[in-house]
Amino acid sequence: MFGSICKSSKIILIRQISSIPSQYFWKLRNLCCPLYASNVLKRKLFLRSNINNIGSCTSLTLSDSYCTAIVINYNNNTIYTKSYITNTTTATTRTSSTDHHHHHCALTAMSQKRFFHDGNIFNYSMQEQSFECVTPTSPNGSGVCDVPVKKYYRKAAHRIFVNRSLHLENIKFYGFDMDYTLAEYKSPQYEQLGFDLVKERLVSMGYPKEIMQFEYDPSFPIRGLWFDTLYGNLLKVDAYGNILVCVHGFEFLKHSQVYELYPNKFLKLDESRVYVLNTLFNLPETYLLACLVDFFTNSSEYTEDRTGVKAGELFMSFNSIFQDVRRAVDWVHIQGDLKKRTVENLDYYVKKDPRLPMVLARIRESGAKVFLLTNSDYNFSNKIMTYIFDFPHGAKPDEPHRDWKTYFDVIVVDARKPLFFGEGTILRQVDTETGALKIGTHMGPLQPGQVYSGGSCEVFTNFINAKGKDVLYIGDHIFGDILKSKKIRGWRTFLVVPELVQELHVWTDKCQFFAELQQLDCQLGEMYKNLDSSNKEKPDISKLRASIRDVTHKMDMAYGMMGSLFRSGSRQTFFSSQVVRYADLYAATFLNFIYYPFSYMFRAPAMLLPHESTVAHEQRYQIEAPMIQRARPTKADSTTASGSHVATDNGAQVVKEVEKEVETTTDEKTVTVPHTRPSTPRTVTHTHDEDYSEEESDPNNKSDGENADDANGKEARKTPK
Ligand SMILES: [Mg+2]
Repeated sequence: MFGSICKSSKIILIRQISSIPSQYFWKLRNLCCPLYASNVLKRKLFLRSNINNIGSCTSLTLSDSYCTAIVINYNNNTIYTKSYITNTTTATTRTSSTDHHHHHCALTAMSQKRFFHDGNIFNYSMQEQSFECVTPTSPNGSGVCDVPVKKYYRKAAHRIFVNRSLHLENIKFYGFDMDYTLAEYKSPQYEQLGFDLVKERLVSMGYPKEIMQFEYDPSFPIRGLWFDTLYGNLLKVDAYGNILVCVHGFEFLKHSQVYELYPNKFLKLDESRVYVLNTLFNLPETYLLACLVDFFTNSSEYTEDRTGVKAGELFMSFNSIFQDVRRAVDWVHIQGDLKKRTVENLDYYVKKDPRLPMVLARIRESGAKVFLLTNSDYNFSNKIMTYIFDFPHGAKPDEPHRDWKTYFDVIVVDARKPLFFGEGTILRQVDTETGALKIGTHMGPLQPGQVYSGGSCEVFTNFINAKGKDVLYIGDHIFGDILKSKKIRGWRTFLVVPELVQELHVWTDKCQFFAELQQLDCQLGEMYKNLDSSNKEKPDISKLRASIRDVTHKMDMAYGMMGSLFRSGSRQTFFSSQVVRYADLYAATFLNFIYYPFSYMFRAPAMLLPHESTVAHEQRYQIEAPMIQRARPTKADSTTASGSHVATDNGAQVVKEVEKEVETTTDEKTVTVPHTRPSTPRTVTHTHDEDYSEEESDPNNKSDGENADDANGKEARKTPK
């Protein structure tokens, strides 16, 4: 998967290294692939690189803030420098050369979708370069010119990540879920509590007492696994249902065993058979299901059948075990002691952050409104909210404490999401003194300081007078909060993924695995570099393959037994695909809003396909046949200013052809056909970015419409307000 970056072939030595701070030695070696250190000797570092067509000696200097590589290409006698600004939190790339305008695109492009990221001290890769003239430069010389490259100024832990661009200025309402969003439960103690209570409940339902010996193991479950109720397996799957990991009880099945149970290692998401363990609340039962399946399939009193276990006359299907666990979990959450035990020991189970009142107050200062929309009931919500706002100060350190309800414009409890986004329930007002519901349906308006129960999104948004895209809803439940609010109501969405803390930690802490993998991919590319279809010999790649498997396994285990929440090697998980599809923004916590101004324009990075992520922009890619001239000259251009189009021979040819065509169409126009061909759009009509507001695009269309021909004019008039 890393081969692409290093697919070019020549290995060269880069020498003359001076003044490299020792703390950068290993980072340089591990992170700067395809440049990597092969030897460190008396502060001289010999680097090997796989830069194609560069046959030469290069120097590299490093300091706390600056790193410059000078590359001399003996093939065409060119020299260029690459400079990297480095500090401990961000990594950016600056390049200089005679051909620098091509250069920076590739460097940023390579970092997309690859195992490079802004947490690295260095974030670059060097690709095949081709330069036309010689400009000797020095690290601080006048020949260095900086090309702007996207920089990430906030620490990884403070960032909000973007799937679809979103301009915060357009958001008029910030809606919040409570559990695991405003109030984050402490892990693993909260899961441990849930696990223990469900275990107790199952024993009281008749399950063997031995299961009480199981202890919650946080290194086992991850969110988003599927439970196959037919075979009793926990599955980690990709976006399409291809199985990445299959666990029966505590046994991780081998590929051949998986094939036996699942033809093509694939399972369709069929709701009657598969249960998706979507939420953080599902973690205890995820692990408990593994415990129970393991217990029953390995206990001497039971014999295993493919779909369950037998003991004498008794058959217990995996499906029935699953149903019992589900019932026990619901019971613990609704009637059982989970809430009681939580509120009895809030400090132990719930995180508290003094930034909370500040963030909410700042949102309202920016002019937007804030609402709470939670599935929890009033009494529980009130206790949790009172606790997480329990500071001596208010929104600012010098302001007095305020009741949590004063931070919200509207408060809705018992929302019954995802039902809320569809038909909903009856909207009632809550008596905040007693917690009881007032009789009758509340007919509006929704008053600040009051608490409402239930209702539906339709009624709710009418009362607050919000359009779908005015609302940013912030929640942790990919299905109940994010998928449904986006699909049904067109809300903008922000997914809270507390696991990102651990995921990003591994991503940065275990960077040597990523670098190792990349090296192995480079070596694999080497093995095949001079071979084509005429070669009969087969390079022996068995050792490399074994090493690749070994490193990938270590990488997976660094995350936990199930690997990463988001990926398995180069494959993205089902959870990951849902995040990308439904969450416009995501972060470990919504508190990260504190690091952004409310005028911020979140821009989504491009999701590169293999042919984009592995081919650098500046790589020469000549084609023999003339290219299709997609940007056609308009009628006006071709008659009055056709000369300006004659940029290349091909271009001239195309322009001539188009001119001919235009002449014919002008004649035909007098007949009947309103438009003989589509005209090339002259303003932004393609959606690249979900957050162009209509107000912004209107003036462009208008001004263009005035100058454009009939077709454009009509289009402009059709643009909705
Ligand atoms: Mg929640």
